[in-house]
Amino acid sequence: MIETDISKVIIQEYTKKLCEHLENDVVIVGAGPAGLAAGYYLAKSGIKTTIVEKKLSIGGGIWGGASGYNIVTFEDTDILEEIDVTTKKEGNLYVVDAIEFATGLAYKATKAGAVIFNLIEAEDIVLKDETVKGIVVNSASVRTLRLHVDPYCICAKCVIDVTGHPAELVSMLKTRKPDLFPKELHEYFMNVEASEAGVVEKTGEVFPGLYVAGMAVCDVYNLPRMGPIFGGMLKSGKKVAELIINKLKA
Ligand SMILES: Cc1cc2nc3c(=O)[nH]c(=O)nc-3n(C[C@H](O)[C@H](O)[C@H](O)COP(=O)(O)OP(=O)(O)OC[C@H]3O[C@@H](n4cnc5c(N)ncnc54)[C@H](O)[C@@H]3O)c2cc1C
Repeated sequence: MIETDISKVIIQEYTKKLCEHLENDVVIVGAGPAGLAAGYYLAKSGIKTTIVEKKLSIGGGIWGGASGYNIVTFEDTDILEEIDVTTKKEGNLYVVDAIEFATGLAYKATKAGAVIFNLIEAEDIVLKDETVKGIVVNSASVRTLRLHVDPYCICAKCVIDVTGHPAELVSMLKTRKPDLFPKELHEYFMNVEASEAGVVEKTGEVFPGLYVAGMAVCDVYNLPRMGPIFGGMLKSGKKVAELIINKLKA
């Protein structure tokens, strides 16, 4: 029966893929621009990398550009050239079609070997010996419907919080360890130059085993917001990948 053949192959392949990625070098939570960029650079270096994304679509805040005008901006083209998207210079900015950027970045990350599981939400952290060892996940539909269904775990040597607002994994730590993160997690007022530089500078390990990158960095360090300019997101994703590559390959 073709109907059950289709079902069987999908269930088998998905189960195989999931079982092969329950233990990883790196698990990335959030498939926005920073998470996809981190996934691309990590996988390209031969690091076993899994990305979980709670939404159906990946790309995070890329798709809508500014207020639904699906154009995004950059101050330079360094990483864009590597992911092979079309850029156009307008004054001091480079403009890129948001759809080409989202699909191009996702294509590069997956072709490099990063495995993405969409519709899976990180709902907690695996913590052992005061080190983050993985994430507790559930089906996004279970979470949305608030069903009383137990989760499962995906483990890794390093976990990256690239959940954008409001830095969801760091928030989970803060709830149980308020002394470690005494400040409220929120971004500051808009200031593009300060934010683009600050988000890259502060990208890094915030707790043993847990790294933060992308817009989540602004929330953790109360940095200014930057709106639909995405160079900082790509550079932050690249930086966190480099930090982890150096650590794992040391
Ligand atoms: C709703 C919205 C608000 C924005 N607000 C700002 C702003 O205030 N300031 C600003 O400068 N720019 C903002 N932006 C613009 C810009 O989109 C972001 O700066 C940029 O997308 C951040 O990139 P990122 O990769 O860090 O996170 P995002 O693009 O936000 O991607 C994070 C991804 O993580 C996923 N995710 C979150 N929690 C979990 C979880 N528990 N488990 C699994 N996946 C999870 C999300 O679904 C999302 O796909 C916003 C965009 C959107 C869509």
